[in-house]
Order: sequence, then structure tokens, then C-alpha cells
Amino acid sequence: MIRKKLIAGNWKMNKTSADASTLVQEIVAEVGRVTDVDILVCPPFTSLESAGKLLEGSNVKLGAQNMHHEASGAYTGEISASMLRSTFATYVILGHSERRTYFAENDKFINQKVLAALKNQLKPVLCVGETLAERESGATLKVVQTQLEGALEGVSKEQATSVVVAYEPVWAIGTGKVATTEQAQEVHAFIRSLLVKLFGDAIAQKVRILYGGSMKPSNAPELLAQKDIDGGLIGGASLESRSFVELVKAAAAAK
Ligand code: PEP
Repeated sequence: MIRKKLIAGNWKMNKTSADASTLVQEIVAEVGRVTDVDILVCPPFTSLESAGKLLEGSNVKLGAQNMHHEASGAYTGEISASMLRSTFATYVILGHSERRTYFAENDKFINQKVLAALKNQLKPVLCVGETLAERESGATLKVVQTQLEGALEGVSKEQATSVVVAYEPVWAIGTGKVATTEQAQEVHAFIRSLLVKLFGDAIAQKVRILYGGSMKPSNAPELLAQKDIDGGLIGGASLESRSFVELVKAAAAAK
């Protein structure tokens, strides 16, 4: 398989530094030597530095959950790409639906972040996905297309292979409702076809498209067996080492 599966944990606004260190240590002990699946943890900003030190020498990668596109300046409360790089983070989640909904992030703003991340050698995990109302009105593919094309404007072919896309139907995030494998695969294949149009087939075949939305050990094997589902972006089930490790094992079995 040309694309190695990626299991990524989005810890959101959970865990103090001490709690984060415990979880990182448990994950490293269990799957720190795994090479056939890429593993990523994205703790809150306050734990990035300590988590990065604990991850050193393991195969588990470090990511942030957001960043600002400017290099520095008067942006109270914000964090730049170079600040993330100094913590050994190599990935950053961008455009998560919670950022779009609660912090009014739009495609233009997310695009600026994507470009700044790539310029600083950070791999963006770009989240796209429709709300329940959008799905019910038949707008899913249009919404995903607008978000994807908007966020990737100006990204070069060379940069595109560093991008990870996460399809996260908003109605499935943290709700326990999972997209059916058919619903997920349909959108993943559509995203792949858009990537072909943007970057050509050879590059599109290398870009990983993760599924996110109530993924857990019980539903992961079926989702991860789909042709265009290259891993998972996991919220709730990434907060506990046992379920996160089981997801890594499910991805290894699915490849
Ligand atoms: C997420 O927020 O990226 C996510 C997929 O959350 P959950 O797994 O809890 O639905």
C-alpha cells in the first residue's frame, strides 16, 4: 500500500501537563516501536514541550491543535508555527469544526494557516466536513469541496504530499453517531478525486485522508478497511491509552 495508515489523537482541551505526560508514557510503552502505522498525538499547547521530550526516540509523532498564520506579533493568546516547531511538533490540526463553529474560522483564514504551516515544515491535518443540516439537504459534497479547495489554495504539488486531510462529519464528532462505511468511503473517494484535479493522480494517491467522528475500537476495523480511508483522527477514544492503542492495532491489521 502506497499510503501508510495514520492514527492521530486530538486531545482537545483535556489533560493537565501531568496527565498528558502519563498518557504519553503509556502510549510510548505500548506502541512507541510500531513502524507499520504512523501515530500522532496532539495535546493542548501547555503540554507540547513536555510531551515532546517524552516522545523523543519513539516513533510517536507530536502535533498541535491549532496555530496562527503570522510569524510573530500582537496576536494575544496565539501561537506561531515556529513556536510549535521549537516543541518538536511536526503536525498541526487546522480547520477543526470546533474552530470553525466556536471561533468563526473560515476557509480563507484556514488557508493562511495551511500555507504558513507548510512554509514552516509543519504537516497540516486539514479538517473538512458537513453539518447534519447540510447532509440532510444534500449539500455534503459541495460543502466538502468548498472547504477543501478553499483551504488548499496556493498549495504547490511539492507541498501537497505533506498535507493530511481529515473528513469529519460534524454530526458524528463526539456524538457517538458514526458515518456508515459507505457514507465515509463515498466522501473519501470524492476528496481523492478533488485532489487528483488539484495536484494530479500521482500526488493524490499519496495524500492520506483520515476519518474522524466517534471512531473507536469497535467500529474502526470496518472503516479502516475502506479503500480511501487511510487512518483516523480520534477525539474521545484518544484520551485513554487502552482504546488509542487498540486503534493503532486495528490500523496495523487493516493495512
Ligand atoms: C474530533 O474531534 O476530531 C473527533 C473525531 O472527536 P470524536 O472522536 O470524539 O468524535
